[in-house]
Amino acid sequence: MNGTSNYSLIKEIKEYAKENNVPIMNDEGINFLTNFVIKHQTENVLEIGTAIGFSAISMALANPKLKVTTIERDENRYLEAVKNIKKFALEDRITLLFQDALDAKIEGEFDLIFIDAAKGQNRNFFEKFENLLTDNGYIITDNMKFHGYVDKDESEIKSHNLRGLVRKIKDYRTFLEENENYSTIFYDVGDGIAVTSKN
Ligand code: SAM
Repeated sequence: MNGTSNYSLIKEIKEYAKENNVPIMNDEGINFLTNFVIKHQTENVLEIGTAIGFSAISMALANPKLKVTTIERDENRYLEAVKNIKKFALEDRITLLFQDALDAKIEGEFDLIFIDAAKGQNRNFFEKFENLLTDNGYIITDNMKFHGYVDKDESEIKSHNLRGLVRKIKDYRTFLEENENYSTIFYDVGDGIAVTSKN
């Protein structure tokens, strides 16, 4: 498949996401992630939260050596991801699981675990899968700023549910900062990206 057709297929995925309110990484975030997997020569990724396959496909296209195991619990999104991965003929490098990640039994070792699912569950995902991380691997978590709400004063957030979610993201940030087994760098790119590595 040549570069031009990949470009137009990616554009179609982004348009579908926009029209159907599917949250996918924004341009700055996906650039960060794809540059990361090139720079670190990442080979095995575990992604929590496939949505329609945009970030998994983007990582696989960026680095031809990279394989992704990715988990999605929403059936419609999963089915759309299956179609998208097929369009790029990436079935041999992207393994798609239709499951709740918190119930999934995953085996293997990963040099990148990318957490991009239910934001209130970040710590649960981290603690469930950290044992699968290679010694030199990284855990990347997206949406640390959650569309700017994390930096807002709580009194400005009217919705009770949103306030709860923002609190959980803040707690997760503290969990990463205070975790003696890991170091985390918080990047002010995209929607806020945390990159965690073992000490
Ligand atoms: N990584 C995708 C991208 O940038 O192309 C976007 C993922 S989207 C932000 C989050 C997805 O995680 C949603 O499609 C949601 O259904 C899924 N999700 C949320 N909680 C999950 C869980 N516990 N297990 C599996 N998938 C989950």
